[in-house]
Amino acid sequence: MYKIRVKGNFSAAHRIFQRNKCENLHGHNWEVEVCLKAEKLNKDGMIVDFREVKERLIKVLENLDHKYLNEVLPFSPTSENIARYIFEQLEKDFEKRGCWLSAVSVKEDKDVEAIYYERKKDNL
Ligand SMILES: [Zn+2]
Repeated sequence: MYKIRVKGNFSAAHRIFQRNKCENLHGHNWEVEVCLKAEKLNKDGMIVDFREVKERLIKVLENLDHKYLNEVLPFSPTSENIARYIFEQLEKDFEKRGCWLSAVSVKEDKDVEAIYYERKKDNL
């Protein structure tokens, strides 16, 4: 079994309505990490080219970078929901490639991280 991880980042503002200071407009420099797994490598000896993963991730993150997330996302822009959103945007890119997206993690800062994965795929 093989696994690769590719990182990206974006800066954006949001408000989380939960009756504490997160209700106030504020921003983060989010760090994102996507993880892909495969049972076998392709003919080039890779799961998939790192550069290709990075380019696809950058494309998704461009939708979020320097945005007010409450206006561009149709759900509460928590780190958990952002991780799921990125997962869903990327997942189809890697179907039929002999590998699968196993998890997406999103960090608001160095101390907190939300991870989205689908149990059946993460355990394969
Ligand atoms: Zn926040």
